Amino acid sequence: MKPPPFDYVAPSSIEEVLDLLSDAQDGASLLAGGQSLMPLLNMRFARPELIIDINRVDGLDGIVVSADKVTVGATVRLATIEHDAEVAAALPILATAASYVAHPQIRARTTIGGTLSHADPSAEMPTVAVALGATINLRSKTGTRSVSAEEFFESTFTTSKEADELLVSVDFPREAGMTFVYDEISRRQGDFPFAGLCLGLSVRNGVVASARAAAAGVADIPQRLPALEAALVGRSIAEATEDAAAAAAGEANPPTDIHGTAAYRRGLLRSLVRRILSTLDEEQK
Ligand SMILES: Cc1cc2nc3c(=O)[nH]c(=O)nc-3n(C[C@H](O)[C@H](O)[C@H](O)COP(=O)(O)OP(=O)(O)OC[C@H]3O[C@@H](n4cnc5c(N)ncnc54)[C@H](O)[C@@H]3O)c2cc1C
Repeated sequence: MKPPPFDYVAPSSIEEVLDLLSDAQDGASLLAGGQSLMPLLNMRFARPELIIDINRVDGLDGIVVSADKVTVGATVRLATIEHDAEVAAALPILATAASYVAHPQIRARTTIGGTLSHADPSAEMPTVAVALGATINLRSKTGTRSVSAEEFFESTFTTSKEADELLVSVDFPREAGMTFVYDEISRRQGDFPFAGLCLGLSVRNGVVASARAAAAGVADIPQRLPALEAALVGRSIAEATEDAAAAAAGEANPPTDIHGTAAYRRGLLRSLVRRILSTLDEEQK
């Protein structure tokens, strides 16, 4: 199918984008990588009167690595995150997780701002953003605000971003001593996962000092898993593994759909907890 008619603009500054969004009053869509928006237009699920192409906007495509965070501009492509040497050295989980998204051709277009704004609950990068405790920076004509990733994702394809707001960047914190691992189970490599898990630990003297975790595909948002985190803290990884797996399965709220039942997805999450904890345990030795 072909998309319905729309007007198209390609501004070059953030201020122009904010003016256009303010004037359009909910009638505009931002075009970033286009890997979700274009199918939605072609299937006529989205019918914006105006498309604002942000690919040529100055100041949105940088990566800044500092001592305590990695700030990624909205139009940075996932392929860039995957292959950037500075990102790999500073926060390798970003590169690892990006490599799980779709296929190289799609990662060459997909932007970090697009995948976060699209808010697919099975998507990898939103899950990593929640697990790491990322901060999402938004701008509108009336001001700037920052929200935590947990506050940003509200339900399937729905975020707390207002229609006149542009996601400008994401701050991924670098927590000293934390090692994060991402793993997922999908039908074929590059498919959206049935379930995915990002789990980070800091371990001191063989005991888990802190843990952060979020899962993909097991709720209508990328879901933080506080019971899993609590089951790990204060114990050795080996001692806590089965309790952590049970806690994660218990707090997940997966859908039953054509791809599998809720019970099936809970089982996958248990397996992912075991797999990742085994990897982290090996890394400690
Ligand atoms: C075959 C295929 C397989 C895929 N597999 C996966 C997968 O395994 N995992 C996965 O996570 N994704 C997958 N995707 C989705 C892909 O990652 C999308 O590109 C992504 O969801 C959207 O990013 P985008 O930059 O293309 O955004 P676009 O499609 O351009 O935009 C998506 C939405 O976000 C809004 N938006 C974009 N940028 C901003 C911004 N800066 N501020 C505010 N709003 C903004 C747009 O207006 C639109 O509503 C797949 C896509 C395809 C086509």
